Amino acid sequence: MLDALFFRRWLTAAADAVDREAERLTELDSPIGDADHGSNLQRGFRAVAAVLEKEAPDTPGAVLMLAGRQLISTVGGASGPLYGTLLRRTGKELGDAPEVGPARFAAALRTGVDAVAALGGAAPGDKTMLDALVPGIDALDALDALDNSLDSFGAAREAALQGALATTPLQARKGRASYLGERSIGHQDPGATSSALLFEALAETADGAGGVSREGSRG
Ligand code: ADP
Ligand code: MG
Repeated sequence: MLDALFFRRWLTAAADAVDREAERLTELDSPIGDADHGSNLQRGFRAVAAVLEKEAPDTPGAVLMLAGRQLISTVGGASGPLYGTLLRRTGKELGDAPEVGPARFAAALRTGVDAVAALGGAAPGDKTMLDALVPGIDALDALDALDNSLDSFGAAREAALQGALATTPLQARKGRASYLGERSIGHQDPGATSSALLFEALAETADGAGGVSREGSRG
């Protein structure tokens, strides 16, 4: 089962991954954007890690909703409200359950991804974060249906990464990159790249949690 601590660890791991990759995310946002994706997310996820540390919410839903609110209030770019909505909507879906299974989490995350699509009006293939989020959540769902296991997060990480890489030949149809028309072709989308990082952090966190729980202890 996944408790509040698991979700705090995930978002802290995400903040670390964003810190590590911030320069690269900003570089990807240079040819087809305004070179701020790395700094936007770095500011946002640092604030998320700080507020989670300070307030230590005690349910998965409360962790995600607080993190989402924090992203919306600290990130100026398009990605702030989109990622903020992803986390808030997912958290809302989890309600006040003290722990959730991977399958329930996957279903809630699907609702969050749908909310991102509704807010931004984008679909897979438009060269946005959805090109990593949708394959990621699809992989999570497919495997969870079989075994409800933490190992599914490894498959989701791989699917999200492949989704991000596959944005390179696409022409952007949403967001700032779409202003470039055909000139957006040939560049990997920064938002899809950061979405793959979120799945990477999730898999890392699940690896840690799975290892610990197989040994019969927590913490
Ligand atoms: P901005 O474009 O305002 O500078 P960022 O650079 O932080 O914001 O984020 C850019 C990323 O946001 C893009 O690479 C893309 O993945 C994502 N994005 C932009 N518009 C949309 C949208 N309408 N739907 C989904 N994702 C979007
Ligand atoms: Mg930008």
